[in-house]
Amino acid sequence: MTPLPAEFGRRASGWDPDRGLAPWAVHQKTSPGRLVSEPPPTHRSEFQRDRDRIIHASSFRRLVYKTQVFVNHEGDLYRTRLTHSLEVAQIARTVAGALGLNEYLVEAVCLAHDLGHTPFGHAGQDALNRCMAAHGGFEHNLQSLRVVDELERKYAHFDGLNLMFETREGILKHCPADRAAKLGELGRRFLEGLQPSLEAQLANVADSIAYTSHDVDDGLRAGLLEIDGLREVPFFDRLYGDVTSRYPGLAGRRLIYEIVREMIGRFVDDLIGETQRRLEAAAPADVAAVRAGGRRLAAFSPDIATGHRDMKRYLLEGLYRHERVLVMTRRADRIVTALFQAYERDPALLPAEVAAMAAARETASGASGRARVIADYIAGMTDRYAISQHEQMDSPDPP
Ligand code: MG
Repeated sequence: MTPLPAEFGRRASGWDPDRGLAPWAVHQKTSPGRLVSEPPPTHRSEFQRDRDRIIHASSFRRLVYKTQVFVNHEGDLYRTRLTHSLEVAQIARTVAGALGLNEYLVEAVCLAHDLGHTPFGHAGQDALNRCMAAHGGFEHNLQSLRVVDELERKYAHFDGLNLMFETREGILKHCPADRAAKLGELGRRFLEGLQPSLEAQLANVADSIAYTSHDVDDGLRAGLLEIDGLREVPFFDRLYGDVTSRYPGLAGRRLIYEIVREMIGRFVDDLIGETQRRLEAAAPADVAAVRAGGRRLAAFSPDIATGHRDMKRYLLEGLYRHERVLVMTRRADRIVTALFQAYERDPALLPAEVAAMAAARETASGASGRARVIADYIAGMTDRYAISQHEQMDSPDPP
């Protein structure tokens, strides 16, 4: 085999994973690194390694059967948590590349950001939070961190995925003060009013660009939204006007795709432009200056921020609170609550390994320890698995 010329590829001598990054980006060489130290990767940067660990995690695979807005079995074309996460990563990488940010870190954060979601989306989380009210509650974002820090169990030397500090920082979007106090350096920003890295800020905005745009697409596809209704939102009406004047007579799905494409493009262009303006004004010397800057740097301009907020409001009323979605919400609530109560009443219904852990945690930290194991187990379920477990319990002859 002919060897690659020395100047190409990752094996080139002197390959620097931080090459090409702006000063305000997260650089591998100044990272606090991992909680458990490990030998450096051979063919990848540390953040590529994080991304790969996330892709190979079982919680990542399960996202394909978890609800975004529509329950997984309602139709094959709707977004699931998995396709949502891929769309978030795609959008964020584009922006990261344009701003000299660490694309691999951004990608890792985006792919991991929803790992802690329960089955049935927000309805499932709300139900589980109620069940856990006496035991510290349940919140999907904290759960995403819990998944990568503890619940993935596949490495010989540690629990979790032992990710880089900045990947964990990006996953943890919000955190109450009492929890933050227990998280050491990771929780510090919530106590001291610091910002996260630009990569983390960007992943957050990319998340809302992705769901605002794809929920319009899915909502129209499902017949829960109408183009004429959406045109009440001035931002959408402008997009509609631009697309229909460029393509007179365009109708049906193609019109919707063109508008959604236009919407993503408008958000992305504006995010890059406004973030660039803020970077020029703030001129942060490094990521430490970004964190201490007191203000978000990755953001929309005021005009597009208004359009984005109006779109989100419209979707809240028109889609997320649509009767057909609420029917699913109520069903999800019943299923999650019934599962939690059944496992609390009779831990023998849990798989043996989970039951053993519940018993061990009960001995160590009482009823809350046991309840947390049950919540982790339910949160890890896919929609269809939760439905099937619930059906089995309801049947006259439980297995
Ligand atoms: Mg998301």
